[in-house]
Amino acid sequence: MYIVFLGAPGAGKGTQAVKAGQALKLDHLATGDLFRQVQAQNTNTARLLRSYVEKGQLVPDDITIQTVLEQLNAYTGRGIIFDGFPRNLTQADALDNALAEREESLDKVVYIKVSEKELLSRLSGRWICQKCQTPYHNVTAPPKIQGKCDRCGGKLYQRADDAVETVKKRLDVYFAETAPLIDYYKRSGKLIEIDGEGSVDDVGRRIMDSLKTAGVV
Ligand code: AMP
Repeated sequence: MYIVFLGAPGAGKGTQAVKAGQALKLDHLATGDLFRQVQAQNTNTARLLRSYVEKGQLVPDDITIQTVLEQLNAYTGRGIIFDGFPRNLTQADALDNALAEREESLDKVVYIKVSEKELLSRLSGRWICQKCQTPYHNVTAPPKIQGKCDRCGGKLYQRADDAVETVKKRLDVYFAETAPLIDYYKRSGKLIEIDGEGSVDDVGRRIMDSLKTAGVV
């Protein structure tokens, strides 16, 4: 089974994709996480990736598609939740073709919808655990001890691309390049739209209920 989680930066895609992956026993493939692993290295590829990510721009399609296809071509598990991929029509097309070559196809696309005002507030207060990637928020989900992860004790950090100017750029890129995917998947009958405002558990429940109603689980 293959499900795409679609939504603006800050919509809660990552958190919900991990939750749904655990509930449905599917693997979680997040291009943002893959890129952050590479960026942490001291290599030319890391510097190249940083030059896009830190400005809030998309990594070029050839690099992104190759990164995902390497994972997909070697994949033999029971299914994947794609988080942060595809992010434009070229990538969506590449994913459709790659799955068709495996005689498979996308089952559903979960689109998590959140207002722009809420996105800006969420992103500018976001802190993430360096070790386990659990997200926190200054106002809505603060850790018990400032700067420390409740789950694993790891150190919390702010992503370089969560700076206010970069956040605005990432949202612009989202509306220009990624938002057209909503119509693309609506036309194919695969889109499930979820209200992404409210608590993590409420949104998670809406997602699972909708997947059940759609007959996916
Ligand atoms: P995310 O963690 O999904 O917000 O991704 C962080 C950053 O990684 C994005 O702002 C992009 O610069 C880059 N990135 C992640 N996924 C993609 C993708 N599918 N296409 C291009 N760039 C991506």
